Amino acid sequence: MTKRKDRSTAVRKIKRKVQSGESREYYRRRLKKPTVSCAICKSQLRGIGEGAKSERTPNRKFGGNLCHRCQAKVIVESQRVREKSKSIEDVQMLYRRYVQGQI
Ligand SMILES: [Zn+2]
Repeated sequence: MTKRKDRSTAVRKIKRKVQSGESREYYRRRLKKPTVSCAICKSQLRGIGEGAKSERTPNRKFGGNLCHRCQAKVIVESQRVREKSKSIEDVQMLYRRYVQGQI
């Protein structure tokens, strides 16, 4: 009987042939999927998947880098700086880097 610790879905079975010719089964823990988080607020980013480039990340500005809340803030701030109703020094330090990239 398989050991209880190897009956978990987090474990996968690997079949290998050893030098003597017989095959053996090994159990190996699956690697955890890396979680992607927002560069500013550190919240977990959703919609990150596998497949084609457009399926892997949200297809918008800062997609896969910033969450939708921080992205909206950066866009609004960068527009204010562009219209000169706000100077770049008045933008919060966290957003400044991204706002500068938008000007
Ligand atoms: Zn965020």
